[in-house]
Amino acid sequence: MHELALAEAIVSALVSEVAKGQRVNKVVVLLGELQNLDREAMEQYLEAGLKEANLNVRMEIKQEEASFRCRRCGASWRLSEARISPEEREAIHYLPEAVYAYVRCPSCASHDYEVVSGRGARVLLEE
Ligand SMILES: [Zn+2]
Repeated sequence: MHELALAEAIVSALVSEVAKGQRVNKVVVLLGELQNLDREAMEQYLEAGLKEANLNVRMEIKQEEASFRCRRCGASWRLSEARISPEEREAIHYLPEAVYAYVRCPSCASHDYEVVSGRGARVLLEE
Protein backbone atom coordinates (compact mmCIF):
# COMPACT_ATOMS: atom_id res chain seq x y z
CA MET A 1 0.00 0.00 0.00
CA HIS A 2 3.01 2.30 0.36
CA GLU A 3 3.30 2.23 -3.40
CA LEU A 4 -0.20 3.63 -3.92
CA ALA A 5 0.28 6.44 -1.40
CA LEU A 6 3.64 7.30 -2.91
CA ALA A 7 2.33 7.26 -6.49
CA GLU A 8 -0.54 9.54 -5.47
CA ALA A 9 1.83 11.95 -3.75
CA ILE A 10 4.06 12.07 -6.83
CA VAL A 11 1.13 12.71 -9.17
CA SER A 12 -0.32 15.47 -7.02
CA ALA A 13 3.09 17.15 -6.69
CA LEU A 14 3.40 16.96 -10.46
CA VAL A 15 -0.07 18.43 -10.99
CA SER A 16 0.77 21.42 -8.80
CA GLU A 17 4.14 21.98 -10.52
CA VAL A 18 2.46 21.95 -13.92
CA ALA A 19 -0.27 24.30 -12.64
CA LYS A 20 2.51 26.72 -11.59
CA GLY A 21 3.77 26.72 -15.16
CA GLN A 22 6.65 24.30 -14.75
CA ARG A 23 7.26 22.28 -17.90
CA VAL A 24 7.67 18.63 -17.14
CA ASN A 25 8.41 16.09 -19.82
CA LYS A 26 9.69 13.33 -17.71
CA VAL A 27 9.49 12.19 -14.14
CA VAL A 28 12.24 10.01 -12.73
CA VAL A 29 11.46 8.10 -9.57
CA LEU A 30 14.42 6.75 -7.61
CA LEU A 31 13.47 3.96 -5.26
CA GLY A 32 15.94 3.44 -2.47
CA GLU A 33 17.59 0.04 -2.30
CA LEU A 34 16.76 -0.04 1.41
CA GLN A 35 13.13 0.68 0.80
CA ASN A 36 10.94 -2.33 0.32
CA LEU A 37 8.88 -0.97 -2.55
CA ASP A 38 7.45 -3.00 -5.37
CA ARG A 39 8.67 -1.44 -8.58
CA GLU A 40 5.98 -2.98 -10.77
CA ALA A 41 3.16 -1.88 -8.50
CA MET A 42 4.72 1.57 -8.39
CA GLU A 43 4.79 1.70 -12.18
CA GLN A 44 1.15 0.67 -12.49
CA TYR A 45 -0.10 3.15 -9.90
CA LEU A 46 1.93 5.95 -11.41
CA GLU A 47 0.78 5.23 -14.93
CA ALA A 48 -2.86 5.15 -13.80
CA GLY A 49 -2.43 8.35 -11.79
CA LEU A 50 -0.78 10.24 -14.65
CA LYS A 51 -3.51 9.15 -17.03
CA GLU A 52 -6.23 10.17 -14.61
CA ALA A 53 -4.64 13.58 -14.12
CA ASN A 54 -4.31 13.97 -17.88
CA LEU A 55 -0.58 14.46 -17.68
CA ASN A 56 1.37 13.56 -20.75
CA VAL A 57 4.64 12.82 -19.00
CA ARG A 58 7.16 10.05 -19.53
CA MET A 59 8.29 8.23 -16.48
CA GLU A 60 11.25 6.18 -15.49
CA ILE A 61 11.68 4.19 -12.32
CA LYS A 62 15.20 3.42 -11.17
CA GLN A 63 16.76 1.91 -8.13
CA GLU A 64 18.98 4.12 -6.03
CA GLU A 65 21.92 2.25 -4.61
CA ALA A 66 22.35 2.34 -0.85
CA SER A 67 25.54 3.96 0.42
CA PHE A 68 26.93 4.54 3.88
CA ARG A 69 29.45 6.73 5.69
CA CYS A 70 31.16 5.73 8.90
CA ARG A 71 30.90 8.22 11.76
CA ARG A 72 33.99 6.80 13.41
CA CYS A 73 36.59 6.64 10.62
CA GLY A 74 34.89 8.48 7.76
CA ALA A 75 34.98 5.58 5.29
CA SER A 76 32.28 5.41 2.61
CA TRP A 77 30.92 2.28 1.01
CA ARG A 78 27.97 0.89 -0.88
CA LEU A 79 25.66 -1.97 0.01
CA SER A 80 27.16 -3.99 -2.85
CA GLU A 81 30.58 -3.65 -1.16
CA ALA A 82 29.39 -4.59 2.32
CA ARG A 83 30.63 -7.95 3.59
CA ILE A 84 27.31 -9.65 4.08
CA SER A 85 25.96 -13.03 3.05
CA PRO A 86 23.25 -13.46 0.40
CA GLU A 87 20.82 -14.39 3.22
CA GLU A 88 21.61 -11.17 5.05
CA ARG A 89 21.18 -9.20 1.85
CA GLU A 90 17.79 -10.85 1.36
CA ALA A 91 16.81 -10.03 4.96
CA ILE A 92 17.72 -6.38 4.38
CA HIS A 93 15.59 -6.32 1.27
CA TYR A 94 12.55 -7.41 3.26
CA LEU A 95 13.29 -5.46 6.40
CA PRO A 96 15.47 -2.44 5.62
CA GLU A 97 16.01 -1.63 9.32
CA ALA A 98 17.92 -4.91 9.51
CA VAL A 99 20.76 -3.16 7.75
CA TYR A 100 22.12 -1.95 11.11
CA ALA A 101 22.25 -5.49 12.42
CA TYR A 102 24.24 -6.87 9.50
CA VAL A 103 26.28 -4.13 7.94
CA ARG A 104 29.47 -2.86 9.59
CA CYS A 105 32.03 -0.37 8.41
CA PRO A 106 34.41 -2.33 6.15
CA SER A 107 37.47 -0.51 7.47
CA CYS A 108 36.90 -0.24 11.25
CA ALA A 109 33.93 -2.63 11.80
CA SER A 110 31.89 0.08 13.54
CA HIS A 111 28.10 -0.03 13.54
CA ASP A 112 28.05 3.74 13.92
CA TYR A 113 27.44 5.01 10.41
CA GLU A 114 24.91 6.99 8.48
CA VAL A 115 22.87 5.90 5.50
CA VAL A 116 23.76 8.46 2.83
CA SER A 117 21.46 7.20 0.09
CA GLY A 118 19.11 4.37 -0.72
CA ARG A 119 16.45 5.19 1.80
CA GLY A 120 12.96 6.26 0.82
CA ALA A 121 12.17 7.50 -2.64
CA ARG A 122 13.22 10.57 -4.57
CA VAL A 123 11.54 12.22 -7.49
CA LEU A 124 13.31 14.22 -10.19
CA LEU A 125 11.41 16.29 -12.72
CA GLU A 126 12.96 16.83 -16.14
CA GLU A 127 11.93 19.41 -18.69
ZN1 LIG B 1 34.71 3.05 10.07
